[in-house]
Amino acid sequence: MKRKVLLIYTGGTIGMEKDYETGSLRAFDFGNIFEKMPEMKLMECEVFVHPFEKPLDSSDMGPEEWKVIAHYIRKNYDEFDGFLILHGTDTMSYTASALSFMLKGLTKPVILTGSQLPIGDLRTDAKENLLTSLYYASLYENDKAVIREVAIYFEYKLLRGNRTLKYSAEYFDAYASPNYPILGQSGVHLNIIKENLYRPDPEIEFHVDDHISEDIIFWRIFPGMNLNHFKEIPEMKVLILQVFGSGTIFSSEKTMETLQQIRNNGTEIVVVSQCISGGISFGKYENSNIFSRIGAISGKDMTAESAITKAMHLIGNPNYPGSFAENFSRNLCGEIS
Ligand code: ASP
Repeated sequence: MKRKVLLIYTGGTIGMEKDYETGSLRAFDFGNIFEKMPEMKLMECEVFVHPFEKPLDSSDMGPEEWKVIAHYIRKNYDEFDGFLILHGTDTMSYTASALSFMLKGLTKPVILTGSQLPIGDLRTDAKENLLTSLYYASLYENDKAVIREVAIYFEYKLLRGNRTLKYSAEYFDAYASPNYPILGQSGVHLNIIKENLYRPDPEIEFHVDDHISEDIIFWRIFPGMNLNHFKEIPEMKVLILQVFGSGTIFSSEKTMETLQQIRNNGTEIVVVSQCISGGISFGKYENSNIFSRIGAISGKDMTAESAITKAMHLIGNPNYPGSFAENFSRNLCGEIS
């Protein structure tokens, strides 16, 4: 039986080609993808293409577009066996993380991919990324999807979406998942590492929870930072602080005073690390004790992208009874160890 994959093209480098006369990049009509890539017709799955009316650079992708994608998947959920989202690489980890929180009880693959070079470029990485993503998006065993989560496929690796970050604007190998092992790898054989795959609670029926709040602020601290600027920020429901190493911050009175004042204003504080791998461990150093004292929440080994979108999804969400801290600390879909 031929599996059906819905390909949603949102924009980004992958859908561009070089105009060899002018030398500049331009978006091509994605509806003609089968002419550009006749290889797609050789795939064992059937592909249906839904391009965004106006392809977006991924720096223009945000909550509105995440919701559009989530609801489009919901609308087409029964008709398709898998979903492939083509996306600019710059913010793909944010979209993948946000979708992982919004799409509840997934029983089908949602794969995101993009490319560093346009599909029309001679040395492009787009074709391999696209073809192998289609393979993963249509992978079934005993009539059940093998992948039941939001994943990114890029440069031979399949990664859990909410564990990824883009770490290179240069190399084809642009994504990493430093705190969670890969889900699959494509070499001579296309492998999947089943024990690393996420399995949603079978009691939860697939649905979309599109709650996303934008009242989140993110600060990366640095030596010498003047915290006075930050005392009175209105509408700040969650402050995500990206701190040093395993959770340290300068220990001055001023730090304590400012952060305590922010907490007294009712703002939740989440702490994540500036390190790419490893995570937060309150109490390891004296200079992290301040966070326990003010009731901050440890983001543990979450990526910044994942912590931001999780906070956006949870704060003020009526579907999550209990405190923000309790809900944030829970593993919702494989994003935290
Ligand atoms: N600026 C582009 C984007 O994220 C880069 C890319 O697609 O690789 O949309």
